[in-house]
Amino acid sequence: MKHSIFKVPELKNEEIKGYLKNSDERKDVVETYNSMYNENIKIPLYIGNEEVYTEERKNINPPHDHKKIVGSYSICNSSHVKKAINSALTIKDQWTNTPWKERAAIFLKAAELIAGPYRSKINAATMIGQSKTIFQAEIDAACELVDFLKLNIVYMSEIYKEQPITVGEVSNRLEYRPLEGFVYAITPFNFTAIGGNLCASAALMGNVILWKPSDHQIYSAKVIMDVFNEAGLPKGVINMVTGDPVLVTDIALNNSNLSGIHFTGSTNVFKQLWTKVGTNINLYKDYPRIVGETGGKDFIVSHPSANSRVVSTAIVRGAFEYQGQKCSAASRVYIPKSKSVEIFNNLKEQISSITLGSPIDFQHFMTAVIHKGSFDKIVNYIEHARNNKESEILIGGDYNEDKGYFVSPTVILTTNPKFTTMQEEIFGPVVTIYVYPDENWKETLTLVDQTSIYALTGAFISEDKESVKYALRHLRYSAGNFYINDKPSGAVVGQQPFGGSRASGTNDKAGSKLNLLRWVSPRLIKENFNPPTEYPYPYMK
Ligand code: NAD
Repeated sequence: MKHSIFKVPELKNEEIKGYLKNSDERKDVVETYNSMYNENIKIPLYIGNEEVYTEERKNINPPHDHKKIVGSYSICNSSHVKKAINSALTIKDQWTNTPWKERAAIFLKAAELIAGPYRSKINAATMIGQSKTIFQAEIDAACELVDFLKLNIVYMSEIYKEQPITVGEVSNRLEYRPLEGFVYAITPFNFTAIGGNLCASAALMGNVILWKPSDHQIYSAKVIMDVFNEAGLPKGVINMVTGDPVLVTDIALNNSNLSGIHFTGSTNVFKQLWTKVGTNINLYKDYPRIVGETGGKDFIVSHPSANSRVVSTAIVRGAFEYQGQKCSAASRVYIPKSKSVEIFNNLKEQISSITLGSPIDFQHFMTAVIHKGSFDKIVNYIEHARNNKESEILIGGDYNEDKGYFVSPTVILTTNPKFTTMQEEIFGPVVTIYVYPDENWKETLTLVDQTSIYALTGAFISEDKESVKYALRHLRYSAGNFYINDKPSGAVVGQQPFGGSRASGTNDKAGSKLNLLRWVSPRLIKENFNPPTEYPYPYMK
């Protein structure tokens, strides 16, 4: 199809389905969930043309029912990782030379498969493996992933259109070459869409990928690989290995063909990756592109003029949706003394109606946290706050791991604005409030800016326009995604490109042109139609 110019998809988000009682989509997802729950699936490694089922395996246990085994996944060894990298490099030339419209068509089909026939499967896998409620699964695994896959095609075409000027007898053009080697994608447990996007965005731009998903997102990662296969992605373009993250990483980072790292996860792991790349810098053919979106300590600041109900709702949704396991989850809150009683009462009222349980029981707003390590870490923070004279548990503070890793929505109140839980990422349903004297709201913004190493998201709630201007200016570098009169979470692809700076990452804004630009190495091509034949310039005469 060399004789046509293709139109790209519309810049439009996937519609979120409601899953109301007796709706078709609800019946579908419940049926799929129940059958997947009892299937005992075996997940392979995806290396080139092969699906490798290793002898060494680990079980997949739903966090809300951790004694139940729903399947197992393969544990790779070093030869699998090397083979996966070689498979990627073997198909590299073919994939790089695949016209962009054909690459786009594959990922567009993948998006359509997720929006349609795979929707209930990818949602059910996310509910089972990552303990998301149907709503949280729908906005992530279905809608956000579809949006990433579709909208990135639009952004790719916009990048390709950006060309230098051509003047007189000279033609100039930029060829947006994929990176020369392979890209290593390492993804977290908490978003199925991030798993799919971190490999697909680089692959869309013509790169070949080694993908290592989190041990706690493998069920939905398998569905993503099935979708890519069915969409016609040539085998070997995205190779998925699962197993020891350090083993996989060390092999990938010791390969001279490493051209990029596409990481989302915790700050410490990202710093380790960066350090290893620095140590190996003389090994690589390219300077590897390093893109990492990492931790957060996301804030809500309520100005004295704010509506208390807006503040408490932003806290409840911002801090407790998906059990606070969003990098953007609100976890430190600053409220004025004059509104504190009203806000506490609102919070108590709203939180008292929250129930926790299995995601297949649709009445629940929250389910379990991801694993035992996370549960223990969250419990330690709660107990630390309970036993400290600078803090008290205002709401919640209960937990139970008999069946699943359940932690109730917890609100800590502290008199120390730099209390541990105001600074460190907990990644659970725990939010800490500091009450400030109303007249100190400007000084409080300085506290907000200087309390944590992170700068991912933040919200300022106010009815006073001047205060909003002041906050925007004084919190300029405190958050990469800044929300006014809203919760600090829930970014939508194409609407709120996502990412933060400082210890929160390289701020390459997933789901935007800025991110895709990291996966190309442009070549300028100048062609002279009338090359000179003598060296002297006219002025020399
Ligand atoms: P994690 O850092 O534990 O794991 C992320 C990935 O890194 C996984 O694939 C894991 O297996 C791998 N990994 C772990 N240790 C490693 C090591 N030593 N070397 C190489 N790879 C290693 O993170 P997680 O628990 O899966 O996810 C939660 C974290 O991710 C939170 O800190 C959260 O803020 C962050 N996150 C950030 C964003 C963002 O956009 N900023 C989005 C989602 C999650």
